Amino acid sequence: MESPIQSYLEQLLADVSGETMGTPYPIHPSGSAPDPQDFGICLATVDGYVYSVGASDKRFSIQSISKPFSYGLAMADHGIEAVDEKVDVEPSGDPFNEISLAPGTGRPANAMINAGALAVVSMIKGSGGKTAPRRIMDFYSKCAGRRLAGSKAVFDVEMRNSDRNHSLAYLLSSFGVIDDDPTRALENYLRQCSAQVTCRDLAMMAGTLANAGTNPRTGETALEIEQVERVLSVMMTSGMYDDAGSWVSSVGMPAKSGVGGGTLAVLPGQAGLAVFSPPLDAHGSSVRGVETCRRLSSDMEMHFVRAA
Ligand code: GLN
Repeated sequence: MESPIQSYLEQLLADVSGETMGTPYPIHPSGSAPDPQDFGICLATVDGYVYSVGASDKRFSIQSISKPFSYGLAMADHGIEAVDEKVDVEPSGDPFNEISLAPGTGRPANAMINAGALAVVSMIKGSGGKTAPRRIMDFYSKCAGRRLAGSKAVFDVEMRNSDRNHSLAYLLSSFGVIDDDPTRALENYLRQCSAQVTCRDLAMMAGTLANAGTNPRTGETALEIEQVERVLSVMMTSGMYDDAGSWVSSVGMPAKSGVGGGTLAVLPGQAGLAVFSPPLDAHGSSVRGVETCRRLSSDMEMHFVRAA
């Protein structure tokens, strides 16, 4: 007999498929336009079970969902305090690519907006050479429990469409927040954004955060609990950019969206959730991703107030 969770997710997929608003991210290598119909939902429990419905094995770019993971890696490399000196933990309420640096110091508000993510990536050990991109991919792979790789084609097209990110990297360098080559920081950031993942991978990555930093299937530890606590706190207040307040009110789970169409949410101690659907809302988050998380949170009582 099919499990009640599996049947529930199938019904949810069918219901939310009726939502056809939004536009996929326009920047992609030629010949690989995102399919607006693709839609997948995966749930990975901390005891290692994965439920999946729809397009759960289709690959897409992780994009901004990379940010919380690189933040975790930078803290694992240098400790939380050293990272705090460069990047604050305040919600900015700004769009992801806003030029929001603290007056005087240039310290980005948090690690979920591009300014903070660029500062974070420049701190990762080996960022001056070829080691950092490999270490980043190894780390994401450990969280996903499967070998992941970046896409050169996605990286190239992002690099050609990154005037704002170039400027941000140079601004951060002018303040000394990036003390490495700013172009290198930008390249490493866009390389991490180009990591190719599936909805199932994202659910496992969320499951690793839900399971206090240890992948529920491989048993490998990627992060310590202090680092997970920090990553999830910043995701809770800033993961959904300028939509963060409405997200916390209606979904109540730490989450992160990416323009590749992925949405990742974490129910600490219980499960990791991922949704894949390319059409985006005005904030750059997946329309169906947001709607699916809202319904799941309400139907399964996943809001942090109810889940306890
Ligand atoms: N590559 C994108 C950028 O930095 C990622 C943005 C996102 O997913 N929100 O512009």
